[in-house]
Amino acid sequence: MAKKLQLSELDILQTLGTGSFGRVRLARVKQSGNYVALKILKKAEILKLKQVDHVISEFSVLRIINHPFLVNLLGYTQDERYLYFLLEFVQGGELFTYLRNIGKLESEQARIYAGQIVCMFEYLHSLNIVYRDLKPENLLIGSDGYLKLTDFGFAKVIEGRTYTLCGTPEYLAPEILLNKGHGKPVDWWTLGIILYEMLAGIDPFSDEDPMAIYQKILKGKVKFPRSFDTNGKSLVKHLLVADLTKRFGNMKGGVNDIKNHRFFSGFDWVRLLQKSMQMRYRPPIRSPNDSSNFSHYPDSATLSPPIKRSDDPFVDW
Ligand code: AMP
Repeated sequence: MAKKLQLSELDILQTLGTGSFGRVRLARVKQSGNYVALKILKKAEILKLKQVDHVISEFSVLRIINHPFLVNLLGYTQDERYLYFLLEFVQGGELFTYLRNIGKLESEQARIYAGQIVCMFEYLHSLNIVYRDLKPENLLIGSDGYLKLTDFGFAKVIEGRTYTLCGTPEYLAPEILLNKGHGKPVDWWTLGIILYEMLAGIDPFSDEDPMAIYQKILKGKVKFPRSFDTNGKSLVKHLLVADLTKRFGNMKGGVNDIKNHRFFSGFDWVRLLQKSMQMRYRPPIRSPNDSSNFSHYPDSATLSPPIKRSDDPFVDW
């Protein structure tokens, strides 16, 4: 259970990554010596971009989740300028970087990663949480080689449908683009995109121009390279379906339609969840504070402006 902490309990170190209204930094808990990731959000920026509801949603989701394949919240605090979320430090960097370096994955490795994503969404959906922002940048690789999903900025507890436009162009489901209202099935769509990307080394709807991406998504024609895994192709085709009544994950069989698909035939879901399966790739890690798997970011010296108590929507956290 995440608890309120004091910033003085931490040594705040280098930047690991940046997000829309702040950055994530490595930190050391003084008492235990453990390393953690500190997500620092600028209050002024959240207000300016009218993202208060998203941040409230992110915090409420982080507070309830607890799963081996999700980045768990360890603590939180705030001051007049920032909100701070203390998260587990996932040392291996982003799946994005790994994919860019390696190009595409062998079927077995893609299957193991896809299996973990299935478990993430199965868990989140059981809590009525829709994630809405799956992409390789948000999948971090732990020192054991297993994935952990981070950034719950777009995640939301919903019953039924919601209408906010959010996500990343290449990964947007057609029902989001058409503003028809969307729910859990968007996550299964994004699983289809990432599975394609892992097996092919490129996005199925990639283009320089976002408008062209949207047109391709709405047209819904997916071209597969010849070398594409046959079973993977069949599963991707069942996920990248515009008609929600026919999209895997959203049909009568629920997540089992995906788990029982032949792409996963013989797959040991129990061992996966127990993390007793051997991972092909284990990130190189030299010490508990080694951040070499992350890009280097210059530190920022400018402080975000303080927010008056009377204007601060987070003051009671
Ligand atoms: P976010 O704003 O949550 O998307 O985080 C921005 C970036 O910070 C991510 O893409 C990661 O590179 C990095 N990051 C976020 N959370 C963690 C974490 N728990 N451990 C290590 N790096 C993280």
